[in-house]
Amino acid sequence: MTDLLVRGGTVVTATGSSVADVAIEGGRIREVAPDLGGLAANAHEVVDASGLLVLPGAVDVHTHTRVATDAEPDRFFQDSVAAAFGGTTTFLAFNNPGTGSSPAAERSLMAGLKEWRAATSQDSAVDYAVSLAISGRMDDPVAELPAVIGEGVPTAKAFMVFDFRLADERIYQAMRVMGERGGLLEVHCEDPVLIDTAVAAALQRGDTSPRYHATTRSTTAEGVATARALAFAQQADAPVHVVHLSAADALRHVREARAAGVRVTAETCPHYLALTDERYDDPDDATVARYVISPPLRSAVDQEALWAGLASGDLDLVATDHVPDRVAVEKAEAARGIPFDRISNGAPGIETLLSIVYGFGVAKGRLTIERMVDLLSTTPARRFGLTSKGAIEAGRDADLVLLDPAARRTLRAADLHHTSDYTPYEGFEVEGAVRSVLVRGRPVVHDGVYVGSRGYGTFVARRNAGSE
Ligand code: MN
Ligand code: MN
Repeated sequence: MTDLLVRGGTVVTATGSSVADVAIEGGRIREVAPDLGGLAANAHEVVDASGLLVLPGAVDVHTHTRVATDAEPDRFFQDSVAAAFGGTTTFLAFNNPGTGSSPAAERSLMAGLKEWRAATSQDSAVDYAVSLAISGRMDDPVAELPAVIGEGVPTAKAFMVFDFRLADERIYQAMRVMGERGGLLEVHCEDPVLIDTAVAAALQRGDTSPRYHATTRSTTAEGVATARALAFAQQADAPVHVVHLSAADALRHVREARAAGVRVTAETCPHYLALTDERYDDPDDATVARYVISPPLRSAVDQEALWAGLASGDLDLVATDHVPDRVAVEKAEAARGIPFDRISNGAPGIETLLSIVYGFGVAKGRLTIERMVDLLSTTPARRFGLTSKGAIEAGRDADLVLLDPAARRTLRAADLHHTSDYTPYEGFEVEGAVRSVLVRGRPVVHDGVYVGSRGYGTFVARRNAGSE
């Protein structure tokens, strides 16, 4: 028997769109066909999707959603609800270096993984998984990689910059181990020599306000680090994923490496697509601090290069780099006169991914709807080993978003559900609105109302990652 029949919507895949019905059984898509009306009489529920786009749920592979604590018991759950409202049905979180983990987790990937799994168990509204952040302060993280892959976590991120960065030789080793074991190393590409020198010089001059965060992290520093990571991947014959690519220079390196046979994928983020470095011109330090993100916001020229890269295939996916900072807490550091290099990095975005990419990409004619589905669902699912996710086809999980393309909305923090107290997109008008969201065939958002339950979201163990 059909549990749910979604009728008459425009079903979108990475390769085409057509008006079709979707039959769901046991949480999975059973059939997609132009007219499954014959199943309606015996279906448990029929959803009318006429006039709506039926999309695979977005797969956000880059978030820093924070685990619950005694002081903030709802923050992981609340951000997972925000994901659902935004049309994201699976998200990957990082276990963050230096943010509330135990001393054991600071030294060991496996200890951190076990802690994170326990802390997030039965706490999510949508499906989720984890990528591990490899810190240079750990005892021997590279040696632990085979074991963590065996625990269903074949992706991890290494940082070339920051005080917890991983030394180049260990990044290269990590790539080799991941490549041999069916894993995928993600790399935060910024050059520590160029950046640390610029930061020290700025502080020496007394240029401590948050706008200097941006001036000390050049596109050259990102580009040269990206080129180095890609050269490592080529030499290691391993796949590599470049996170949060922000600028034309780094994108050029990705294009050239791919042409040379490097198995690279690269992501960019909504903030680089919708905001530019003019945000750093605001005279108010506390306002500028909202945009302290690494890499920083870039020029309008870089932004156009990113949109072109998404359309052409030079860029592979969009993920949020969601950091649930709050103006009233983390970003108040700037107002207290704390120097820019010690202000918390990142901005919220888990709920606005689809809004930004649809509203500024598809609705503005920069991307086709099929390309958007590839960028937000199909490619991230495939590359990160989420084999049951990312497409509307028989056998996959019935993770569906019903989006009204004719709706217009104004993004406002007051209307969002994430744990942050602001959005970088306050007042932005976008076309398109998420109406309903299904996770494994069950409604989580219905007609704009949350109808899910805490703990329904399941941890997705992955066998491997890095598929082409
Ligand atoms: Mn990063
Ligand atoms: Mn990040």
